[in-house]
Amino acid sequence: MGPSRTVLVTGASGQDGSYLCERLVAEGHDVHALHHPGSSSPSATLPESGAVTCHDGDLAHERGIRDLVLDVRPEEIYNLAGISSVARSWEEPVLTGTVTGLGAAAIFDSAWRLQESSELSVRVLQASSAEIFGSPATSPQDESTPVAPVSPYGAAKAYAHHLARAYRARGLHVATAILYNHESPRRPEQFVTRKITRTVAAIALGQADDLALGNLDAVRDWGWAPDYVDAMVRANRADDADDYVVATGAAHSVRDFVEAAFAAAGVADWERYVRVDPAFFRPADPTALIGDPSKARELLGWVPTTSFAEIVGAMVAQDLKELGS
Ligand code: GDP
Repeated sequence: MGPSRTVLVTGASGQDGSYLCERLVAEGHDVHALHHPGSSSPSATLPESGAVTCHDGDLAHERGIRDLVLDVRPEEIYNLAGISSVARSWEEPVLTGTVTGLGAAAIFDSAWRLQESSELSVRVLQASSAEIFGSPATSPQDESTPVAPVSPYGAAKAYAHHLARAYRARGLHVATAILYNHESPRRPEQFVTRKITRTVAAIALGQADDLALGNLDAVRDWGWAPDYVDAMVRANRADDADDYVVATGAAHSVRDFVEAAFAAAGVADWERYVRVDPAFFRPADPTALIGDPSKARELLGWVPTTSFAEIVGAMVAQDLKELGS
């Protein structure tokens, strides 16, 4: 472990932010979090209360972000905040563009200004997304796959992705992690994985009768969130700022996830519990987002530690525990 650093995390109360803050605190860094009033407190998800300094603010307020960055003087920034669900981005496309897109501009520009006005060299990690590839013609995707989003979420992340490259060319150390779906027991239920494990646990405990889902044929590359946080840290601390696909390379359908979840909960004949409801279909849905993580493996020494079955098993176990008590 290196020397203690000052670190700023946006999106600290989310799934990835909570794992990241735990790790940074454990490493002995001075961790600051941008906290959007109305979101849950990041300290609620951390082992030691008070270990993270929270600052109220909003990525949509450029002035506030600039003042915060100039005040905290972080050497590392992780920009994880944003409207994080594709489904919600269709309901709030303007908010998505403002926070997920323009918010990244506020972070990059503030980091650039801090660097210009001080002796600090500032490193920024942008949490990019597989959704920037839209419905790609080739699979798996890698860092050279054309950026062609098909949702407001993907378009906002694509803007931030292009801008990261622009600021990198200007001399700021901005790395991007092109994150494929990543799950954990901290995943909220608006994502299909947690919706499935929660409902399957409820069915196993006799608390629910059926599981209503949209497109069962959608294919995703689902990884383990703490692994993806590790990739972001490695990317931010690498000598050269670059773009890295962070994925497992393994393809599974929503149907595979459902089957694995029922198996983990010990429920037989799973098909009789599942109902397809058109309300859960998307206006446009990438059908096969699979990533090739070779570059992250070769340049960052990053490898996923947790298999698909282990991810599903951990989430089902957590839901059985929560619903059973
Ligand atoms: P996303 O990949 O970031 O959109 O993550 P989600 O977990 O929300 O969705 C993953 C895939 O599951 C998408 O292709 C959805 O269309 C599909 N899906 C099928 N049924 C559902 C559902 O009931 N809820 C959600 N959220 N997604 C569903």
